[in-house]
This record gives sequence, structure tokens and C-alpha cells, in this order.
Amino acid sequence: MSVIYERVALIGLGLIASSMFWAIKRSGLAGEVTGYARSAETRDTARRIGLCDRVCDTAAEAVAGADLVVLCVPVGAMGQVAAEIAPHLAAGATVSDVGSVKAAVIQAVGPHLPDNVHFVPAHPLAGTEHSGPESGFATLFDNRWCLLVPVEGTDPDAVVRLGRFWQEMGANVDTMEADHHDLVLAVTSHAPHLIAYTMVGVADDLRRVTDSEVIKYSAAGFRDFTRIAASDPTMWRDVFLTNKEATLEILGRFTEELFALQRAIRTGDGAHLHDYFTRTRAIRRGIIEAGQDTDAPDFGRAKAVR
Ligand code: NAP
Repeated sequence: MSVIYERVALIGLGLIASSMFWAIKRSGLAGEVTGYARSAETRDTARRIGLCDRVCDTAAEAVAGADLVVLCVPVGAMGQVAAEIAPHLAAGATVSDVGSVKAAVIQAVGPHLPDNVHFVPAHPLAGTEHSGPESGFATLFDNRWCLLVPVEGTDPDAVVRLGRFWQEMGANVDTMEADHHDLVLAVTSHAPHLIAYTMVGVADDLRRVTDSEVIKYSAAGFRDFTRIAASDPTMWRDVFLTNKEATLEILGRFTEELFALQRAIRTGDGAHLHDYFTRTRAIRRGIIEAGQDTDAPDFGRAKAVR
């Protein structure tokens, strides 16, 4: 038990904020955690399930006196929320966020913040396809990465302190520059989500032809796409609208590779396909060796539910 911040304010009470709260409590990292969500329904749910020590009816009340404020709302809402809380921030407070895109958040939030606060954007690389105040759990960040993206001129002590906070919530911490972050995430998360959305959309169109066989005989490949494609529509709309360039760059490369594979299939170039699949299999092995996923067949799903 070591308190890192006396008062933490979580703005937005969905999957990430609720997981943060339970992780903070697990290790006693804050004296008090206040929370705010825009809808009365979410605030009521939070109060009912004991999410946050104090749920406030305004963002201003939640951030008053907080030494850490974390914006946990969709990327497209960050700027407006920053403008709302800015006049109420305590001098010397650290303001952070958990947005999946970093350059756009820095651009949207930075100009609203007073000079006497430290702005340390962050992105925990952890999530599920569930959302809302009841979807969080304390172990979400365990052994996952949290990337800190400090802006130029940020007080190094504020960065170190926030890094320690994420480590105590279970994460491995690294720092990265914003544009680089957005490119890396376009490859590892954003483009794969768009591809999953597309594949599920195609299957949905086809379903009309095959009369729901796609659902009934859903095999691992398609089923895994559907899990990703069930992710929150607002969050993902904002990710694509704000990480436009990097996502389009990766999708361009993806399309080229897809055409090459399409050609290999048409021309019966088995060697090309085999070499390609051998290379991609090695990447999966690397992810497992890095401790970022399980080696169990079918992600360790019990046979009973297959
Ligand atoms: P979530 O479960 O959908 O919760 C979003 C919260 O933001 C809700 O409390 C919602 O309030 C509030 N909100 C939504 N629109 C708002 C607006 N226009 N103004 C003010 N508040 C608004 O979302 P989440 O999954 O925790 O995601 C939060 C952030 O974490 C996003 O920026 C996302 O990119 C990032 N992130 C997500 C994941 C993931 O896998 N889910 C992983 C890493 C980072 P109400 O409930 O009152 O509507």
C-alpha cells in the first residue's frame, strides 16, 4: 500500500476508468478517488456498485483539489471536457488521459490547460469489447503496456510519478512520441479493428444469402473477428476520425498485400502463400514469448463452449 496521489479524479466512468478505480483500490494508490460521468444513469450505476469513493454531479466538483485528473472519455470528447474542467484544476495537478490516439488528444486538450498544471498524456494498451461502468476489473492492466506520451517541456518528475502509478496498477510503462505512437497503434490495433469490422460486415451481407449459416457454423476465424467488431462504436468512430493519416497509410499497405495474396491464389502460387503464412506464424510466437497472450489453443477457451 503506497499512496501516490492524494486525490485522483476520473472523468468518464466506462471500462477504462472503472478498471483504473479497481486497480487503484487493489493497491491503495490514492487517498480518495472522485468520479464524474455526463449521464445521471452512469453516475447512479457508479454509486450503486461503489465505483469511486465519491461520485460527483459536475466535472468541476470532481477535479477540485485533485492532484491527478484522468480523462477517460472518447477521443472526440477530450477537448470539450478539458475546456470544462480547466478553470477548476488545482495548481500543480497532473492532467492525463487514456485515449487511444495521442497527437489529436494533445492538440485538443493542451490549449485549454493552464500553465500551472502538468499534462502527461497516456494510453494503456488494454481493453475488452465491453464498455460502461460495470465492465471494469482490477486486473485489466496487469502485464499490459501503458505508453506515456509527455509533451515537450513537461516536468520529468510528473512523468515519473504517473509512470509509477501505472506500474502499481499492474502495467509495464514506456514513453513514446505522439506521432510514433499513432503509427504503431494504427498497425497493432486500429487497422486490425477496421478489418474485423469489414469482415463481419461482409459476413452479415452474406448471411442474407446463406440464411444464417454464417452464425450457426461460426468457426474460430470469424468468431474472433466478431469479438473485435463488437467494440464500442463511439470509441472506434473517434479513433478513425482522429488517427486518419496513420490508419490510411497502414490500410494502403494492407490493400497492396491483399492484392498480392489474391494474385497468389489466382495463379496457384503455393510457395508465396506458404512463405507468407510461415512469416506471420512467427509473429504470433513472438507475442506469446513477450507474455502478451496465451499459448493455449483457441486462446484457452474451454472445449465446452466451442
Ligand atoms: P466507455 O466504457 O464507453 O466509457 C466512456 C465514458 O465516457 C462514459 O462514462 C461516457 O459517459 C463518457 N462520455 C462519452 N461521450 C462523452 C462526451 N461526449 N462527453 C463527456 N463524456 C462522454 O469507454 P472506454 O472503453 O472506457 O474508453 C475511454 C477512453 O479510453 C477512450 O478514449 C478510448 O479510446 C480509450 N481506451 C479504450 C480502450 C478499450 O479497449 N475500450 C483501451 C484503451 C484506451 P456516459 O456513460 O455518461 O455516457
